[in-house]
Amino acid sequence: MKRNHIAGEWVDGATAADNINPSDTRDVVGLYARADAGQAAEAIAAAHAAQPLWAASTPQQRFDALDAVGSEILARRDELGDLLAREEGKTLAEAVGEVVRAGQIFKFFAGETLRAGGELLASTRPGLSVEITREPVGVVGIITPWNFPIAIPAWKIAPALAHGNAVVFKPAENVPASAWALAEILSRANLPAGTFNLVMGRGRDVGEALLNDARVSAVTFTGSEATGRKVAQACIGRRGPMAKFQLEMGGKNPLVVLDDADLDVAVNCAIHGAFFSTGQRCTASSRLIVTEGIHDRFVAAMVERMKTLVVGDARDARTSIGPVVDAVQLQQDTDYIDIGRREGARLAFGGDVRETVDGKPGFYLQPALFVDTHNGMRINREEIFGPVASVIRVRDAEAALATANDTEFGLSSGVCTTSLKLAAHFKRHLQAGMVMVNAPTAGVDPHVPFGGRKGSSHGPREQGRHAAEFYTTVKTTYVAP
Ligand code: NAD
Repeated sequence: MKRNHIAGEWVDGATAADNINPSDTRDVVGLYARADAGQAAEAIAAAHAAQPLWAASTPQQRFDALDAVGSEILARRDELGDLLAREEGKTLAEAVGEVVRAGQIFKFFAGETLRAGGELLASTRPGLSVEITREPVGVVGIITPWNFPIAIPAWKIAPALAHGNAVVFKPAENVPASAWALAEILSRANLPAGTFNLVMGRGRDVGEALLNDARVSAVTFTGSEATGRKVAQACIGRRGPMAKFQLEMGGKNPLVVLDDADLDVAVNCAIHGAFFSTGQRCTASSRLIVTEGIHDRFVAAMVERMKTLVVGDARDARTSIGPVVDAVQLQQDTDYIDIGRREGARLAFGGDVRETVDGKPGFYLQPALFVDTHNGMRINREEIFGPVASVIRVRDAEAALATANDTEFGLSSGVCTTSLKLAAHFKRHLQAGMVMVNAPTAGVDPHVPFGGRKGSSHGPREQGRHAAEFYTTVKTTYVAP
């Protein structure tokens, strides 16, 4: 059994659970410990005790630790990618790509430890000077979703450690293997015992324990909007000082295709953005907003491309779309396909469940494309989080922009056009944290800010230099000679 890591020790959980391969449900990836609230409290205590030691470490010590972790992740990319594909169901190529990204993130934040600095300003008052410095926030609670089992933990753990914080990390229940592998690497990185703790377990046990404990100074959460709201309420409503919190939640990302778009580019962006990683990305292009002049050609080309997508075992080299992560998510996807039909949308392609592929029982769903939809339909307002996309036909570029922005979410957005003028107009007016011009809405770099607006995000951006906003607290010091 794979155990939790608390105060530098590997410890049994209160219970344990099997990790199941969604490409072949007969395959058990492993048995993983599950902590209860009491064990979460032990991890918090360990982190609280270790944090001052780690805060006192030199930038070189932090660099060496994070750099070593990044190097090992990159060196083991194929093995870790295989494990990730096996437990989550994204294809091997996507999984290896995600592992590489996790390694790059550790490398980036290793560099950040050496670049940390402050500002020195003259005071408005004679004889004084003002120093602005950043200090660690303290113990950071990290709660992550299942769809990026190593990259999201990496982009939270690496900056937390780089900026001198201690960590209690709770991964999603259904993908503990990648989290455990990352924790095992971190356990050998010469951090003071208790600086990094892994507590696998359920949200309502371990997650809530993190939110309610005043020794946790900051909580970084990625997951659904419904859980995000609970996290926010708990961080504010708990006894003692409120926790600083950062929420990355859902999306209903628009990809706008204008009449003058290069059709091949537009179809590539839509196929990649809507269906790769089985559509299970917060940045997925679930609304394809297409102007009249290109609409019919776009739909026809999409259907042709979708016929070539091979749904199958995530680790089979022929597969372009892996299975849905589990039975619950598959049910949600098919429920939304039924809702779309009842709302009057027409399925131009896909949407069939396959209970086996090559004799392997799994959660297989053929990517689905709805046409004849409008932006008021539930399938265009609510996050489905599967390989299901809708085409919304609009009159012109202005109607496309208005439709793109008519959503409660605001994570990513895209526009396909060959017009410099229209690209500039959309770059300026799309209401989202990220805008992609002639590129898929999903797929981002590891060294630049990531995050959204409106219902998609709350709090400072993740990744890149901007991560310091969340993982540090600013001190202003006045000095008189
Ligand atoms: P989820 O909200 O069900 O779970 C996320 C995490 O929260 C899990 O670790 C879960 O155990 C934990 N949790 C559940 N209840 C909790 C509680 N009461 N207190 C504390 N923690 C609790 O989300 P999911 O199904 O794992 O992930 C899918 C969602 O994540 C989608 O909505 C997707 O858009 C979103 N997501 C967002 C981003 C982003 O950066 N915006 C990235 C990836 C995924």
